[in-house]
Amino acid sequence: MKNFLCSFCNKKHDIFFETEFGLPEVIVKELDSGELEYESGERWFIIQKKYFLVKGVIEIPIIDYEKKIKWLVWAMISKEDFFEYTSLFSTNKKANWPKEGTLAAEMAFLKKSVGLRISLDLKEKNSFPSIKICERDSELGRMQEEKITMEGAIKIMELFYHDELKFNGLQV
Ligand SMILES: [Zn+2]
Repeated sequence: MKNFLCSFCNKKHDIFFETEFGLPEVIVKELDSGELEYESGERWFIIQKKYFLVKGVIEIPIIDYEKKIKWLVWAMISKEDFFEYTSLFSTNKKANWPKEGTLAAEMAFLKKSVGLRISLDLKEKNSFPSIKICERDSELGRMQEEKITMEGAIKIMELFYHDELKFNGLQV
């Protein structure tokens, strides 16, 4: 399957599995106001020398389908873990990982994304770490734990295509 018939516009769209999400709106607004001091790289973000964020991947398995949905998101971790992560990123070492953190991604089609407790684990060198949602009773935690249907995955893609990300209460 390469495309699907969209229930919003009745046209065919390409299926895609990888999406990137930005920082939460509240943080973006403050950053835009110029009042927050920050440093950033391709894979990391430090705000006010106090909040340490890295990019990671949330994988959502699809029932009876070999590919997984991959969402690239920001996660907040402790300062110590952050510097350990940056020193280990290009190595194969992963002693004492995974580490705990919280999700810092604006995923407005979900009831809750920002602040969800996560566990961040290092993957093979030079690739984004993986994120596991620890709160199993959250929508995202359930999706990751119980997998979603291809129908559900397509519903999410429709929202992305039509920028309907304020949709609340997704049933997948
Ligand atoms: Zn459409």
